[in-house]
Order: sequence, then C-alpha cells, then structure tokens
Amino acid sequence: MSGQRILVIGGVATGPKAAARARRRDPEAQITIVEKGRIISYSGCGLPYYVEGLFPEVEELWRTPAGTLRDPAYFEHVKDIQVRTETLAEAIDRDRKRVRVRHLPTGSVEELPYDKLVLATGGEAVCPPIEGRELEGVTTLRSPEEAVQVRSALDAGRIRQAVIVGAGPIGVEMVEAFHARGVPVTLVEMLDQVLPTLLDFEMARLLERHLKGLGVDLRLQTKVVRILGEGESGGGRAGHRRTSPRRPGALLGGRSAKRPTGRRSRP
Ligand SMILES: Cc1cc2nc3c(=O)[nH]c(=O)nc-3n(C[C@H](O)[C@H](O)[C@H](O)COP(=O)(O)OP(=O)(O)OC[C@H]3O[C@@H](n4cnc5c(N)ncnc54)[C@H](O)[C@@H]3O)c2cc1C
Repeated sequence: MSGQRILVIGGVATGPKAAARARRRDPEAQITIVEKGRIISYSGCGLPYYVEGLFPEVEELWRTPAGTLRDPAYFEHVKDIQVRTETLAEAIDRDRKRVRVRHLPTGSVEELPYDKLVLATGGEAVCPPIEGRELEGVTTLRSPEEAVQVRSALDAGRIRQAVIVGAGPIGVEMVEAFHARGVPVTLVEMLDQVLPTLLDFEMARLLERHLKGLGVDLRLQTKVVRILGEGESGGGRAGHRRTSPRRPGALLGGRSAKRPTGRRSRP
C-alpha cells in the first residue's frame, strides 16, 4: 500500500525501529515520529556506563557505528522519516484517524492524520511515593538528561556517598558505576535478595558476596520509608535505622516483611 501515512508515537528504541522497518517495507510511505523528549533513538542500556565514565560524551548513546548522530536530521536525510521532538501526543481520535499533538516549547497544537498508528510510548521509571523523593540529589535514571546530571555531579566531586534504592538490574549497574568512581555505595532492597526477578535465591548469594567484597553496604529486607534532606535527622524512630544522614537524598531504612517461608528460590 503506497503513500500511506504512518504515525509513530515514541522515539527511543521501539518507535524508530518500527519506523525504519516500515520505511524498508514501503518506500513511498509518509512516516512521522513524535517524541515528547528532546533526544531520540538513544541506548537506554548505556546510561549507567556513561555515568561510570566509560566514554566521554553522552552523544555516544545515539551515534551510529559509522559515527553519525541519530538525530532528527539523520532520520530525515538518511531514512526519509520526519521526527518531531518535544512534541507530546495528547489525544487520539480513532474515528477520524487523527492525533492531537502539542509542541511543548511553544504550546502550539496541531492534528496529525494517519492511516497506521504505532504506539511506542514505552515505560516510566517507577518511583514509590516515598516522602522526600523531590529533594535535591534524588533522581531516577531513565533518560540521558538524568544521566548527564549524575555524571556532572560525579565529575565535580559533589557526590560523596550514594544510596541506590532497588537491587534490580539498573540499581546493580549503578552500584558498579559509583563503585568504579570511588564513591561509597549503600544498596537498599526490600526483598531478601539482589536481582529478585532475575536470579534464584542461591545464585543471588554469590552476587551479594561479591558486592559486599567490593565494600558495598548491602541492606536487604530493608524498606526506604523517608528520604532526609541536608541537616535533617530521622533519629530515634523505633524500628528504623538511619543509613546516611549527611547528604540531601539520604535514606531512612526500616525492616520490611520477610518473604513468605518456603519461597526461597524462584522458578
Ligand atoms: C538505565 C537503563 C538501563 C537499561 N539497560 C538495559 C539492558 O541492559 N538491556 C536491555 O535489554 N534493556 C535495558 N534497558 C531498557 C531499555 O532501554 C528499554 O527496554 C527501551 O528503552 C524500551 O524502548 P521503548 O522505545 O519501547 O520505550 P522507551 O524507551 O520508554 O521510549 C518511549 C518514548 O516514548 C515517549 N512518549 C511517551 N508518551 C508519549 C506521548 N504521549 N507523546 C510523545 N512521546 C511520548 C517517551 O518520552 C519515551 O521517550 C535499560 C533502561 C534503562 C533506563
């Protein structure tokens, strides 16, 4: 079907991949990607390695093996795909096959027609409603912008101690990054093992031993209940342990419920 309008919402991994595939299959299609952020087609997987300092420029995360940046101009000139960054898809009218988009810097609103619509809106970082999460020095690691903030703070020597909440893959990668940069790290995990969705309990023990050997302060079965600001003290609350009161974003941890007995390893 030639000349059809293909509209893709989301411009990180799935969106550009779908758009490029559509272009290969239909050289005549009019393909547009809308992305609410400023940066497209980057490797989220490389963010911790950028923070660690394994390569100097964050742009490496969206450079092709041939050295070209995968920015909107690249998609337009090399793949004949239009990209609109800082553009939020606000509403889909499926009857009229139109998407209302807002250009975030100017607020201007427009309707884009489509024949085929691809939703590649991905996910958001999950941040539990912990008091103090809005404090300076507290961040998720989801975007190149956040990675640049953390790396700049590291480069400037402004991070004297780090607390990572959650021992999933990104948490463990960030432990590695901070450790490599010589920053003491505390890793807090509510469950009774690291990488709970990936490793059996017994295998996790090996990794936990390794982390402790590196000097990581590992707190399993520990729930973050509040993040303290600079100078604040969480002292004296029964059943809670203050882990790092010295920096903005310091954590107050307490014991969480144990995993139900008989569930020592995962299938
Ligand atoms: C730190 C980190 C490390 C990772 N490491 C690995 C790894 O080692 N291995 C691995 O396989 N995966 C890893 N991942 C996961 C991988 O990056 C994701 O699976 C991948 O980014 C998913 O791509 P996506 O395009 O589906 O979604 P996303 O990356 O979430 O992109 C979706 C995009 O859609 C945009 N969007 C959402 N709603 C709208 C809207 N209404 N209008 C316009 N735009 C919108 C968002 O701004 C976002 O940019 C890692 C992720 C992170 C953050």
